[in-house]
Amino acid sequence: MAAPHAVQENIQDQLLVQTDWEAAAACRSVTVDTDVFFSEDLGDIAQAKAICAGCPVLSPCLEGALRRREPWGVWGGQLFLNGKMLATKRRRGRPPKNPRPSDSLPVVPIPEHLIELASA
Ligand code: SF4
Repeated sequence: MAAPHAVQENIQDQLLVQTDWEAAAACRSVTVDTDVFFSEDLGDIAQAKAICAGCPVLSPCLEGALRRREPWGVWGGQLFLNGKMLATKRRRGRPPKNPRPSDSLPVVPIPEHLIELASA
């Protein structure tokens, strides 16, 4: 059995790891409008997904969101609603006969090691 201080060091290491990746998050930049991550607007959602696509910590962010079953927002490049990932989102109202290019959201690939978790 590990000594208590060893356990405590392990917990501190885990906290440091979590703090480390969160500190590198692209959405923590002062130039990013974080409202776009929790918006109903397709343009905002597309903007959030584009920010995530270039984020160095996409993988741990998405894994955390999947495990927490995030109820809302864009996390790790994916749109979540009620704990599930949505592939797409429609505008309010009737779907147009000819979909506008701005109606399609950017596709951010799911890291290979998270595909099984994402489809569970
Ligand atoms: S993947 Fe997106 S939501 Fe997650 S930390 Fe990066 S920018 Fe923020």
